[in-house]
Amino acid sequence: MIVVGVNGPGKLQVRDAPAPLRKHRALVRLERAGICGTDLKILDGAVPVAYPVIMGHEMVGMVSRSGSDGRMPSGTRVLVNPGIHCRDCHLCDTDRPHLCHRGGLLGRDMDGVFAEEIAMEEHFLHVVPDGIGPDAAGLLQVLGTVVHSQQTAPVTAGSVALVIGLGVSGLLHLQLLLASGVDRVIGVTRSAWKRDLATRLGAHAVATPEEAAGVVADVSDGRGADLAVEAVGTASTVAQAIELCGPGGEVIVYGTVTGEGGPMPYYQLYFKEITLRYPRAARPGDYDRAIALAASGRIQLDPLVTARFPLENAPDAFAAARSGDHLKVLLTP
Ligand SMILES: [Zn+2]
Ligand SMILES: [Zn+2]
Repeated sequence: MIVVGVNGPGKLQVRDAPAPLRKHRALVRLERAGICGTDLKILDGAVPVAYPVIMGHEMVGMVSRSGSDGRMPSGTRVLVNPGIHCRDCHLCDTDRPHLCHRGGLLGRDMDGVFAEEIAMEEHFLHVVPDGIGPDAAGLLQVLGTVVHSQQTAPVTAGSVALVIGLGVSGLLHLQLLLASGVDRVIGVTRSAWKRDLATRLGAHAVATPEEAAGVVADVSDGRGADLAVEAVGTASTVAQAIELCGPGGEVIVYGTVTGEGGPMPYYQLYFKEITLRYPRAARPGDYDRAIALAASGRIQLDPLVTARFPLENAPDAFAAARSGDHLKVLLTP
């Protein structure tokens, strides 16, 4: 079967591999897999991995052979939770398996999902109803992490909320805030077409980074945002999120800031008593909530998928994902 791996910085490899053989695990055949920023960083060598590794952590598929638990009969459509955990440590026992340090992420710490078929313990599979289309289903793993992040902060209907960065995750954050009853959500991005899309998806206002302070002041009657989601992953956008929050504001840093970071408005953190949240990955229950939300139709997922390529054309798919012209790029069988 075809798999997509990396065997050194910049060395993407589409190759043939033996079908997975793990007796007690279920086999899952690929329906859609998503390429995300983490995969690009792994390919570049910015996120270290032990080479060679099969890439990918975002996948939906169909169970083709049930595992030894027998909970997922063949033919069940499933989302794969890529956050492998031990189920036996202090963190796993206290509903924080996403932080388990005996675990790891598929496609980074162990072979991932960019394959025609994978073998998974049934514990890591979540049933996906047929009402969610194939492309929309390809976004469920990201939606799970977005659901998880917003569970860490108070999201109240009367809030003025801000989303900085309107890629796939920013647009999901925006829609999830709207679905939670926050009607004043402001989207911030340099990209004109992403601002237009955010408006179509229900943003109360949109702004370029330069316009953001004025727009936030307007919408909040000068008090600043109550909640800011940073969905870019740079020190400067984290700083901007802090600056645009009002007293008592909450900042969810969803983007991953790697390396040294940069200067931060520390005095503002203190003076406005800002709460910073740093969510990571998702709990199993967050994936179930994401699936229910997608099935309810309250979040539009299809407009966020802008390209799909068969696994064997992975180099083209990675080039598209890197180009900046796309939202989610999906791989198909
Ligand atoms: Zn991802
Ligand atoms: Zn554990």
